[in-house]
Amino acid sequence: MKIDEQAAASPMKQLRLSWACPACHGELDANPDTLVCKECARRYPLVAEIPDFRVEAPAWIDFDHDRDRALHIDTVAREQGLSEAIIDIFRNSRKFDEKKSRYRLKQVLFGIEKCSREMSGWLAPLTRDPVLDLGVGPGQFVAAAAREGRVMQGIDVSLEWLMIAKHWSRSFGVEPMLAGALAEHLPLRAGALGSVISYDVIEHVGNQKRYASEIGRVLAPGGTVAMVTPNRYSLSPEPHAHVWGVGYLPVRWQAPWVKLMSGREYAYCRLLSTGEIRRLFRREAGLDLDVVFPPISPEEILQFSKLKTGMAHAYNTITQSALARPVMPLVGAYYRASGTKPKAR
Ligand SMILES: [Zn+2]
Repeated sequence: MKIDEQAAASPMKQLRLSWACPACHGELDANPDTLVCKECARRYPLVAEIPDFRVEAPAWIDFDHDRDRALHIDTVAREQGLSEAIIDIFRNSRKFDEKKSRYRLKQVLFGIEKCSREMSGWLAPLTRDPVLDLGVGPGQFVAAAAREGRVMQGIDVSLEWLMIAKHWSRSFGVEPMLAGALAEHLPLRAGALGSVISYDVIEHVGNQKRYASEIGRVLAPGGTVAMVTPNRYSLSPEPHAHVWGVGYLPVRWQAPWVKLMSGREYAYCRLLSTGEIRRLFRREAGLDLDVVFPPISPEEILQFSKLKTGMAHAYNTITQSALARPVMPLVGAYYRASGTKPKAR
């Protein structure tokens, strides 16, 4: 057997070949350290086994720095374990102190429970194989699927976090199928997917129109999308800037307002109202979305202080009443948006 044939027989190579060129959507050839597009000859490196399909486009992250960090995190995860690797990211990339890093570690690891519950809950009819987790982050969905012995495909703009997702999935004995990629340039053929799930992503992508049109492109007819995102018009503070009232301002005033109130930059954050996300997906993806304001989850409430727990229960009682439903788009904190791609256009 030639070296090439040996590689072709490996399951890792099979997994890599379900991706496509993010530029022309052509088929890929797998070499030991690179994937090469058979159509346009573009080359994509493998970074600690994970293909890097990110193309030059505006993003909140520096790709070269992220690649170095990813290699470092892969080593830490191998030598010291998953928890130490997660702490390393919080300490060094996010500049959190020891206490906050440990706290966020617990939150990340506990996140798998929420994902499992959502997968057997509202996502159950919205996860048809193959499923793509668009915006893997630390990999709670990928890990929750792996714990059930299932493979969920996943992409993220951060290779550093994808290393966590890779090792987490392997800890359940499942070889994950992950790639570094931009939401606006998905490394997938048209109609390749049964479902896309995407939590807390749309508000951070550089080009929301392309995000929506790419989801419309990669879904098979009858395929589904499920998203969760913070509501633009919310009575709670903007969840990234921790400043009140941001969403009620015109978009061009939002960044200056955040700067004024907190001194922080407000970039790569554009929260959508329920009307805005519906219009976006109708126009760019040909998809009609259902929007629902869910209660705050039990897993999140468990992490709250006593006072905040009381407030969360009150929020849930009020917001889940029929009376509140019509005003939720103007006050609610988070919503779920889901839809099905029509079978025939
Ligand atoms: Zn290509």
